Amino acid sequence: MTIDSITHSVPSTVGSSKFSEAELQQKAKDHLWMHFSRQSVMEDGPGVPIIVKGEGHHIWDSTGKKYFDGLSGLFVVNAGHGRRRLAEVAAKQAEELAFFPLWSYAHPSAIELADRLASYAPGDLNRVFFSTGGGEAVETAFKLAKYYWKLQGRPTKHKVISRNVAYHGTPQGALAITGIPAMKEMFEPVTPGGFRVPNTNFYRAAEMGAPTEDLETFGLWAANRIEEMILFEGPETVAAVFLEPVQNSGGCFPPPPGYFKRVREICDQYDVLLVSDEVICAFGRIGEFFACDAYDYVPDMITCAKGMTSGYSPIGATIISDRIYEPFKHGNTSFYHGYTFGGHPVSAAVALANLDIFEEEKLNENVRLNSPAFRATLEKLNDLPIVGDVRGAGYFFGIELVKDKVTKETFNDDESERLLRGFLSKALFDAGLYCRADDRGDPVIQLAPPLTIGQPEFDEIEQTLRSVLTEAWTRL
Ligand code: PLP
Repeated sequence: MTIDSITHSVPSTVGSSKFSEAELQQKAKDHLWMHFSRQSVMEDGPGVPIIVKGEGHHIWDSTGKKYFDGLSGLFVVNAGHGRRRLAEVAAKQAEELAFFPLWSYAHPSAIELADRLASYAPGDLNRVFFSTGGGEAVETAFKLAKYYWKLQGRPTKHKVISRNVAYHGTPQGALAITGIPAMKEMFEPVTPGGFRVPNTNFYRAAEMGAPTEDLETFGLWAANRIEEMILFEGPETVAAVFLEPVQNSGGCFPPPPGYFKRVREICDQYDVLLVSDEVICAFGRIGEFFACDAYDYVPDMITCAKGMTSGYSPIGATIISDRIYEPFKHGNTSFYHGYTFGGHPVSAAVALANLDIFEEEKLNENVRLNSPAFRATLEKLNDLPIVGDVRGAGYFFGIELVKDKVTKETFNDDESERLLRGFLSKALFDAGLYCRADDRGDPVIQLAPPLTIGQPEFDEIEQTLRSVLTEAWTRL
């Protein structure tokens, strides 16, 4: 055996793993079940992209290739990758107290974080119930809404209203609130009581039979569909309405002016709780700690997760108004609900340090200042025949793709499959931009980069999208 062949037979390892690329791919093929993914891509194809490193708004794969993280992982890494300070806080907390539950006991980091979140939350939202992620935060809000009305002597108020195509998580209660039939039909019957109303997709207003003359009229129409559903079902049966400030699924639908004002009025009129699902929109995505502030409404509960730690450790929270908390203040009433890892000490400590970074680096201000430039840069893509609509808010934008710009004709299932799965996702990734090509509604490309970026990075995103979308059009 020559020296050379000896060198070659020693596998070079990937990142901090002790295994080589080929070994990891084989182990993934043999054992890893990816989320929301076709396993066949891994089973039959060359393998799965293995991401090994992140720094700022960049990530690197196991072959050393660098990518722009245009989705902050999954709407998570808001402060950017590679923050040593957050890693050090995690290590320090793990050393001091790695774990203790919030079941009748507490620890300093959860207490401090609850206090901090309450200080950011609007109105009388002062009570924080921790979980480990967004779906659990939604599940918590759903159960609490039902329980609250029972405690008020109104036990038939148990139904929940949400919007068409909205995603609210995968637990069976959260799934009942999720408005994407294709994501739940295989699990039916899910928790009963979920009802759907139209979303605020102004671009598709005509197809919904909604007014198209101006945004305000459309917004009022959309909000009034909630009232209509409450009346259809009977106000005495409806517990809560779950809405994202800007709806993610379907491609970033901001609320039209006046929408949330009218929704709040409706909820007050019929004694229905308003839950602001801010799993994506909180922590700077829309330029505020809580996005309800950007749209000037005070919900009864906020659900949040993802950006709270910028992903350096998992956590979720449901933030609850004094009014809803009130019956739990006295006597024997307790909320029989919880999660072993809810409010985990390491995650809570990391969240506090992450929020310090937000304050010190003025990340919310950065988003508010630069969002118009981000939008204007993406809107340059409107000159491409495949781009139908550019919409969103903050650092959260969707680009809807169409077959015909004038008629707004969308792609059929087959074309969508070829375009999004067959070409776009991979082509964008190959071009060095990690983002999302999504077809849970009409086909869209979604962008939600770290909140640290500015004009040079907006230009880079636009240039990459321009070349890949131009190529996509020629393939139709
Ligand atoms: N709610 C909304 C609005 C979300 O976007 C998500 C996830 O993307 C969830 C809930 C579920 O969060 P998780 O995946 O942390 O359970």
